[in-house]
Amino acid sequence: MSKENFMNTYGKFDVVFEKGYGTKLYDVNGVEYLDFVSGVAVNCLGHSHPAIVEALNEQSKNLMHVSNIYWNTKQIELAKKLTDHGEHDKVFFCNSGTEAVETALKLARKYGKINGGDNKNEIIFMENSFHGRTAGALAVTGQIKYQKDFMPLMPGVKSAKFNDIQDFKSKINENTCAVILEPVQGEGGILPAEVDFLKAVRDLCDEYDALLIYDEVQCGIGRLGSLFGYQSFGVVPDIICLSKGLGGGFPIGATLAKEKAAKAFAPGDHGCTFGGNPLASTVALTVLKELMDKGIIESVNEKSQYIIEKIKVLKDKYDIIEGVQGKGLLLGLKVKTDPKKILDKCFENKLMLISAGKDVIRILPPLNVTKEEIDAAIDILDKSLQEILV
Ligand SMILES: *Cc1c(COP(=O)(O)O)cnc(C)c1O
Repeated sequence: MSKENFMNTYGKFDVVFEKGYGTKLYDVNGVEYLDFVSGVAVNCLGHSHPAIVEALNEQSKNLMHVSNIYWNTKQIELAKKLTDHGEHDKVFFCNSGTEAVETALKLARKYGKINGGDNKNEIIFMENSFHGRTAGALAVTGQIKYQKDFMPLMPGVKSAKFNDIQDFKSKINENTCAVILEPVQGEGGILPAEVDFLKAVRDLCDEYDALLIYDEVQCGIGRLGSLFGYQSFGVVPDIICLSKGLGGGFPIGATLAKEKAAKAFAPGDHGCTFGGNPLASTVALTVLKELMDKGIIESVNEKSQYIIEKIKVLKDKYDIIEGVQGKGLLLGLKVKTDPKKILDKCFENKLMLISAGKDVIRILPPLNVTKEEIDAAIDILDKSLQEILV
C-alpha cells in the first residue's frame, strides 16, 4: 500500500482500517480492535450507527450541498435544536473545531472594536490549552511545542495560568475583548476547570466587558454528561465552540453565541462554504436526537463512575498508575511512565487508546458504550500492564 505520498504530519500507528461498527474497528486483514479513542471524541455513537447511516442515505438523495447564501431546512432545524437546549441565541456553522475557534476569535475582536474601540482587542488564553492548528487558534494554544516553528503568530494575545484566579486577575484589563478556555483541557492532559475559577473568570469578564469563550470541541455534546460542557459546571459562557462529537464522524463545527456577542457580526464579516450543509446538518440532527432521546447523555456519568471504580482496582494492583482524572467520558489515566509503552502494548492486544499531555492516557469510548465493552477494555488494559511489567 502506498503511504509515501503523504505529508509527514502524524505519528501514526501501523494499521490501515477498513470498517467499523459500534465500538469495533476492523483493519484490512479483518483484525478486530476495540476502539476507546472514538476518533478523538468524535464517534460519540460508535462507528456506522444505523440512524446515522440511514440519515446520510436519505438526505443524500435529496440535497447534499447548497450555498450559505440560501437557507436550507436541515440547517434551520439544527440551529433551532442547538439554541433550544441551551442558553445561546445564535449559531454559525463550519466544518471543524479550529474553524469554530477562529469564528469565536473573530467575533470577539469585532465585539471589542464596537464596544471599546480599536484597543479593545486582546484575547487571554490558558497555559496548557489546545484550540486548534490554524493560525489564529494556534496563537491562543498554550503549548509551545505546537507553536515554536510557526512564529510569528497572531498578536494581541496573552496567556494566564489555568485555575489560578490571582494570575487571571492580573492579566485581564479594559483592553481584553475575550477569554478562551476549555472547561476540561483535553490535549493538555484531561484537566477540568475548577468551578470557583470559572465563576471568577465570568465575573471579571463581566466587569471588563470581555466575552467568555468556552472551547467545548472535545468536552461538549454529551461527553461530560450534559449536552453542553458548561452545563456540568453551571457557569455560562458568551460563546461556545463545538465540533468533534457534533457530527458523530461527519465533519461539522458550530459556534454558538449569546445575542449580545453575535450581533457584532454583519454580512461579509465571516463565512464558510461548506459550513452546516444539508448533509452535515442532517447527521448532526440525528446525533443530537439519538443522544438526547435515547437517554445516552443521562447514562454518561454512571458509565464514568463504573470506569473510575475499575481503574481504582487497577491502581491498587499497579504502582505505575497514579490515578484517574477528568469528567464524564472524558477520562484520563495518569501514569508514572511514558504512556506510549502502555498505548503500544494495548494496541498489540487490540485495544485503542491515546495519550494526552505527557503522562496521561485518555479513555474516550463512544457515549453509547456498554458495561460489557468497558469490562473488555479494562481487561485488556490490565493484561497489557501486566505484560509491560514482567
Ligand atoms: C480537537 C480540538 C480542536 C481542533 O479541532 P479540529 O477539528 O481538529 O480543527 C480545538 N479545540 C479542542 C479543545 C480540541 O480538542
